[in-house]
Amino acid sequence: GSELIIKNLHANIEGKPILRGVDLVVRQGEVHALMGPNGSGKSTLANVIMGNPKYEVTEGEIWFKGENILEYSPDRRARMRLFLAFQYPMSIPGVSVANFLRRSLEAVREGNKPLEEGENPTGQMAKRKAIPPREFRNLLKSKMDLLKVGNEFINRSINDGFSGGEKKRAEILQMALLEPEIALMDETDSGLDIDALKIVSESVNALRGPNLGILLITHYQRMLNYITPDFVHVMYEGRVVKSGGKELALELEEKGYEWIKQQNEVTA
Ligand code: ADP
Ligand code: MG
Ligand code: MG
Repeated sequence: GSELIIKNLHANIEGKPILRGVDLVVRQGEVHALMGPNGSGKSTLANVIMGNPKYEVTEGEIWFKGENILEYSPDRRARMRLFLAFQYPMSIPGVSVANFLRRSLEAVREGNKPLEEGENPTGQMAKRKAIPPREFRNLLKSKMDLLKVGNEFINRSINDGFSGGEKKRAEILQMALLEPEIALMDETDSGLDIDALKIVSESVNALRGPNLGILLITHYQRMLNYITPDFVHVMYEGRVVKSGGKELALELEEKGYEWIKQQNEVTA
Protein backbone atom coordinates (compact mmCIF):
# COMPACT_ATOMS: atom_id res chain seq x y z
CA GLY A 1 0.00 0.00 0.00
CA SER A 2 0.88 3.69 -0.22
CA GLU A 3 2.99 5.33 2.43
CA LEU A 4 3.45 8.93 3.45
CA ILE A 5 6.87 9.27 5.03
CA ILE A 6 7.95 12.49 6.71
CA LYS A 7 11.61 12.73 7.63
CA ASN A 8 13.20 15.40 9.79
CA LEU A 9 10.90 18.03 8.36
CA HIS A 10 11.69 21.66 9.16
CA ALA A 11 9.56 24.55 7.91
CA ASN A 12 9.29 28.30 8.41
CA ILE A 13 6.52 30.79 8.03
CA GLU A 14 7.59 34.37 7.39
CA GLY A 15 11.11 33.41 8.44
CA LYS A 16 9.96 31.98 11.77
CA PRO A 17 10.77 28.27 12.35
CA ILE A 18 7.59 26.31 13.14
CA LEU A 19 8.36 22.71 12.25
CA ARG A 20 11.62 21.62 13.90
CA GLY A 21 12.23 18.08 12.72
CA VAL A 22 8.99 16.14 12.27
CA ASP A 23 9.21 12.37 11.74
CA LEU A 24 6.01 10.51 10.93
CA VAL A 25 4.84 7.60 8.75
CA VAL A 26 1.20 7.09 7.71
CA ARG A 27 0.25 4.03 5.67
CA GLN A 28 -2.87 3.25 3.69
CA GLY A 29 -5.38 1.54 5.97
CA GLU A 30 -4.15 3.18 9.18
CA VAL A 31 -5.81 5.91 11.23
CA HIS A 32 -3.37 8.18 13.03
CA ALA A 33 -4.45 10.87 15.46
CA LEU A 34 -2.13 13.86 15.70
CA MET A 35 -2.70 15.74 18.91
CA GLY A 36 -0.92 18.55 20.68
CA PRO A 37 -1.38 21.91 22.33
CA ASN A 38 -2.48 24.94 20.36
CA GLY A 39 0.38 26.42 18.37
CA SER A 40 2.46 23.22 18.33
CA GLY A 41 2.48 23.16 14.51
CA LYS A 42 -0.22 20.63 13.59
CA SER A 43 -1.93 22.78 10.96
CA THR A 44 1.45 23.88 9.66
CA LEU A 45 2.36 20.23 9.11
CA ALA A 46 -0.87 19.60 7.16
CA ASN A 47 -0.25 22.66 5.03
CA VAL A 48 3.35 21.73 4.32
CA ILE A 49 2.39 18.17 3.36
CA MET A 50 -0.08 19.58 0.82
CA GLY A 51 2.45 22.06 -0.53
CA ASN A 52 0.95 25.36 0.61
CA PRO A 53 3.39 27.94 -0.82
CA LYS A 54 3.10 30.19 2.26
CA TYR A 55 5.40 27.79 4.12
CA GLU A 56 9.10 27.36 3.39
CA VAL A 57 10.61 23.93 3.90
CA THR A 58 14.18 24.41 5.11
CA GLU A 59 15.20 20.81 5.78
CA GLY A 60 13.91 17.25 5.53
CA GLU A 61 11.87 15.16 3.13
CA ILE A 62 8.31 14.18 2.33
CA TRP A 63 7.93 10.90 0.47
CA PHE A 64 4.66 9.64 -0.98
CA LYS A 65 4.33 6.41 -2.96
CA GLY A 66 8.09 6.25 -3.31
CA GLU A 67 8.49 9.78 -4.68
CA ASN A 68 9.94 12.79 -2.92
CA ILE A 69 7.04 15.19 -3.42
CA LEU A 70 8.60 18.31 -1.87
CA GLU A 71 8.83 20.13 -5.19
CA TYR A 72 5.39 19.06 -6.43
CA SER A 73 2.52 21.54 -6.70
CA PRO A 74 -0.52 21.06 -4.45
CA ASP A 75 -2.47 19.95 -7.54
CA ARG A 76 0.02 17.27 -8.38
CA ARG A 77 -0.01 16.01 -4.79
CA ALA A 78 -3.82 15.84 -4.95
CA ARG A 79 -3.63 13.94 -8.23
CA MET A 80 -1.40 11.40 -6.49
CA ARG A 81 -4.38 10.86 -4.16
CA LEU A 82 -3.17 12.82 -1.20
CA PHE A 83 -6.09 14.74 0.26
CA LEU A 84 -6.38 17.82 2.37
CA ALA A 85 -9.98 18.93 2.73
CA PHE A 86 -10.88 21.83 0.46
CA GLN A 87 -7.54 22.53 -1.09
CA TYR A 88 -9.50 24.15 -3.92
CA PRO A 89 -11.02 27.62 -3.53
CA MET A 90 -14.45 27.45 -1.93
CA SER A 91 -15.88 30.88 -2.48
CA ILE A 92 -17.25 30.47 -5.99
CA PRO A 93 -20.65 32.20 -6.03
CA GLY A 94 -23.45 30.14 -7.54
CA VAL A 95 -21.52 26.86 -7.68
CA SER A 96 -23.48 24.02 -6.11
CA VAL A 97 -21.87 21.44 -3.88
CA ALA A 98 -22.46 18.88 -6.64
CA ASN A 99 -20.70 21.00 -9.28
CA PHE A 100 -17.87 21.81 -6.95
CA LEU A 101 -17.40 18.11 -6.29
CA ARG A 102 -17.48 17.28 -10.00
CA ARG A 103 -14.76 19.85 -10.69
CA SER A 104 -12.54 18.57 -7.93
CA LEU A 105 -12.99 14.98 -9.11
CA GLU A 106 -12.12 15.96 -12.68
CA ALA A 107 -9.00 17.71 -11.44
CA VAL A 108 -7.86 14.68 -9.48
CA ARG A 109 -8.72 12.18 -12.23
CA GLU A 110 -6.13 13.84 -14.45
CA GLY A 111 -3.66 12.06 -12.18
CA ASN A 112 -4.23 8.85 -14.13
CA LYS A 113 -2.70 10.47 -17.14
CA PRO A 114 1.09 10.07 -17.51
CA LEU A 115 3.17 13.25 -17.72
CA GLU A 116 3.59 14.54 -21.24
CA GLU A 117 6.98 15.10 -22.80
CA GLY A 118 8.45 18.27 -21.33
CA GLU A 119 5.56 18.77 -18.90
CA ASN A 120 6.62 20.31 -15.63
CA PRO A 121 5.55 17.99 -12.82
CA THR A 122 5.35 20.95 -10.45
CA GLY A 123 3.11 23.00 -12.76
CA GLN A 124 -0.65 23.47 -12.78
CA MET A 125 -2.77 21.34 -15.09
CA ALA A 126 -4.02 23.31 -18.06
CA LYS A 127 -7.36 21.57 -18.50
CA ARG A 128 -9.65 19.02 -16.95
CA LYS A 129 -11.28 16.10 -18.68
CA ALA A 130 -15.07 16.12 -18.27
CA ILE A 131 -16.60 13.13 -16.48
CA PRO A 132 -19.76 11.78 -18.18
CA PRO A 133 -22.76 13.14 -16.21
CA ARG A 134 -24.30 9.70 -15.62
CA GLU A 135 -21.05 8.27 -14.29
CA PHE A 136 -20.66 11.23 -11.95
CA ARG A 137 -24.26 11.04 -10.72
CA ASN A 138 -23.94 7.32 -9.93
CA LEU A 139 -20.67 7.76 -8.11
CA LEU A 140 -21.92 10.76 -6.15
CA LYS A 141 -25.12 8.90 -5.25
CA SER A 142 -23.20 5.92 -3.91
CA LYS A 143 -21.05 8.19 -1.71
CA MET A 144 -24.09 10.15 -0.52
CA ASP A 145 -25.77 6.88 0.47
CA LEU A 146 -22.64 5.75 2.29
CA LEU A 147 -22.50 8.99 4.27
CA LYS A 148 -26.30 9.43 4.56
CA VAL A 149 -26.25 12.83 2.83
CA GLY A 150 -29.52 14.19 1.41
CA ASN A 151 -30.16 15.64 -2.08
CA GLU A 152 -31.08 19.09 -0.80
CA PHE A 153 -27.58 19.40 0.61
CA ILE A 154 -25.68 18.86 -2.62
CA ASN A 155 -27.82 21.28 -4.60
CA ARG A 156 -27.03 24.17 -2.32
CA SER A 157 -24.40 26.72 -3.23
CA ILE A 158 -21.00 25.80 -1.82
CA ASN A 159 -20.58 28.95 0.26
CA ASP A 160 -24.20 29.51 1.11
CA GLY A 161 -24.23 29.93 4.88
CA PHE A 162 -23.10 26.42 5.79
CA SER A 163 -22.97 25.64 9.49
CA GLY A 164 -19.75 24.20 10.93
CA GLY A 165 -21.23 20.72 10.76
CA GLU A 166 -22.37 21.15 7.14
CA LYS A 167 -18.94 22.36 6.06
CA LYS A 168 -17.43 19.25 7.57
CA ARG A 169 -20.00 17.02 5.85
CA ALA A 170 -19.21 18.66 2.49
CA GLU A 171 -15.53 18.14 3.20
CA ILE A 172 -16.00 14.46 4.00
CA LEU A 173 -18.26 13.97 0.98
CA GLN A 174 -15.50 15.45 -1.15
CA MET A 175 -13.05 13.08 0.47
CA ALA A 176 -15.33 10.09 -0.20
CA LEU A 177 -15.65 11.04 -3.84
CA LEU A 178 -11.97 11.66 -4.48
CA GLU A 179 -10.98 8.34 -2.88
CA PRO A 180 -7.63 9.49 -1.54
CA GLU A 181 -5.00 7.01 -0.42
CA ILE A 182 -3.92 9.28 2.43
CA ALA A 183 -6.19 12.00 3.84
CA LEU A 184 -5.23 14.81 6.20
CA MET A 185 -8.13 16.05 8.28
CA ASP A 186 -7.33 19.18 10.26
CA GLU A 187 -9.48 19.93 13.30
CA THR A 188 -12.43 18.15 11.79
CA ASP A 189 -14.07 18.40 15.20
CA SER A 190 -13.54 22.10 15.88
CA GLY A 191 -16.70 24.12 16.39
CA LEU A 192 -19.02 21.12 16.26
CA ASP A 193 -21.74 20.43 18.79
CA ILE A 194 -22.07 16.88 20.05
CA ASP A 195 -24.65 15.80 17.44
CA ALA A 196 -22.61 17.15 14.54
CA LEU A 197 -19.52 15.54 16.05
CA LYS A 198 -21.26 12.16 16.06
CA ILE A 199 -22.42 12.53 12.45
CA VAL A 200 -18.98 13.58 11.27
CA SER A 201 -17.33 10.74 13.19
CA GLU A 202 -19.75 8.20 11.71
CA SER A 203 -18.87 9.50 8.25
CA VAL A 204 -15.16 9.11 8.89
CA ASN A 205 -15.76 5.60 10.23
CA ALA A 206 -17.80 4.75 7.12
CA LEU A 207 -14.79 5.66 4.96
CA ARG A 208 -12.30 3.68 7.01
CA GLY A 209 -10.83 0.69 5.26
CA PRO A 210 -7.67 -0.86 3.80
CA ASN A 211 -7.45 1.71 0.97
CA LEU A 212 -7.49 4.83 3.13
CA GLY A 213 -4.90 6.17 5.53
CA ILE A 214 -6.00 9.06 7.72
CA LEU A 215 -4.06 11.65 9.66
CA LEU A 216 -6.69 13.05 11.98
CA ILE A 217 -5.49 16.27 13.56
CA THR A 218 -7.20 17.28 16.73
CA HIS A 219 -6.57 19.39 19.79
CA TYR A 220 -9.19 17.60 21.88
CA GLN A 221 -9.60 13.98 22.83
CA ARG A 222 -13.37 13.99 22.38
CA MET A 223 -13.48 13.01 18.72
CA LEU A 224 -11.45 9.94 19.59
CA ASN A 225 -14.39 8.73 21.68
CA TYR A 226 -16.05 8.03 18.33
CA ILE A 227 -13.11 7.30 16.05
CA THR A 228 -10.66 4.79 17.48
CA PRO A 229 -7.21 5.55 16.08
CA ASP A 230 -4.60 2.88 15.42
CA PHE A 231 -1.86 5.29 16.47
CA VAL A 232 -1.71 8.50 18.46
CA HIS A 233 1.07 11.09 18.18
CA VAL A 234 1.70 14.18 20.22
CA MET A 235 3.19 17.24 18.64
CA TYR A 236 4.97 19.79 20.77
CA GLU A 237 7.01 22.78 19.61
CA GLY A 238 7.22 21.57 16.03
CA ARG A 239 8.15 17.94 16.65
CA VAL A 240 6.37 14.65 17.23
CA VAL A 241 7.55 14.04 20.79
CA LYS A 242 5.50 10.99 21.71
CA SER A 243 3.74 8.19 19.82
CA GLY A 244 1.65 5.28 20.99
CA GLY A 245 -1.62 3.44 20.60
CA LYS A 246 -5.11 4.65 21.37
CA GLU A 247 -4.40 4.57 25.11
CA LEU A 248 -2.07 7.55 24.68
CA ALA A 249 -5.10 9.75 23.90
CA LEU A 250 -6.73 8.70 27.15
CA GLU A 251 -3.53 9.34 29.06
CA LEU A 252 -3.42 12.83 27.56
CA GLU A 253 -6.99 13.50 28.55
CA GLU A 254 -6.19 12.49 32.10
CA LYS A 255 -2.86 14.27 32.48
CA GLY A 256 -3.24 17.17 30.04
CA TYR A 257 -0.52 18.65 27.88
CA GLU A 258 1.40 20.00 30.88
CA TRP A 259 2.69 16.47 31.32
CA ILE A 260 4.17 16.50 27.81
CA LYS A 261 5.64 19.96 28.32
CA GLN A 262 7.33 18.94 31.57
CA GLN A 263 8.73 15.74 30.08
CA ASN A 264 10.21 17.69 27.22
CA GLU A 265 11.76 20.29 29.45
CA VAL A 266 13.47 17.56 31.47
CA THR A 267 14.85 15.74 28.43
CA ALA A 268 15.65 18.84 26.33
P1 ADP B 1 -1.62 24.21 15.70
O1 ADP B 1 -2.36 23.81 14.48
O2 ADP B 1 -0.93 23.06 16.36
O3 ADP B 1 -2.46 24.98 16.66
P2 ADP B 1 -0.24 26.02 13.92
O4 ADP B 1 0.46 25.17 12.91
O5 ADP B 1 -1.50 26.66 13.54
O6 ADP B 1 -0.42 25.17 15.27
O7 ADP B 1 0.74 27.16 14.42
C1 ADP B 1 2.06 26.90 14.83
C2 ADP B 1 2.76 28.21 15.07
O8 ADP B 1 2.90 28.89 13.84
C3 ADP B 1 2.05 29.15 16.02
O9 ADP B 1 3.03 29.75 16.85
C4 ADP B 1 1.42 30.17 15.11
O10 ADP B 1 1.33 31.40 15.75
C5 ADP B 1 2.39 30.21 13.95
N1 ADP B 1 1.71 30.53 12.70
C6 ADP B 1 0.80 29.76 12.07
N2 ADP B 1 0.36 30.34 10.95
C7 ADP B 1 1.00 31.52 10.87
C8 ADP B 1 1.00 32.60 9.94
N3 ADP B 1 0.22 32.58 8.85
N4 ADP B 1 1.83 33.65 10.17
C9 ADP B 1 2.61 33.65 11.25
N5 ADP B 1 2.67 32.70 12.17
C10 ADP B 1 1.88 31.64 11.98
MG1 MG C 1 -4.37 26.08 16.43
MG1 MG D 1 -4.32 23.95 13.92
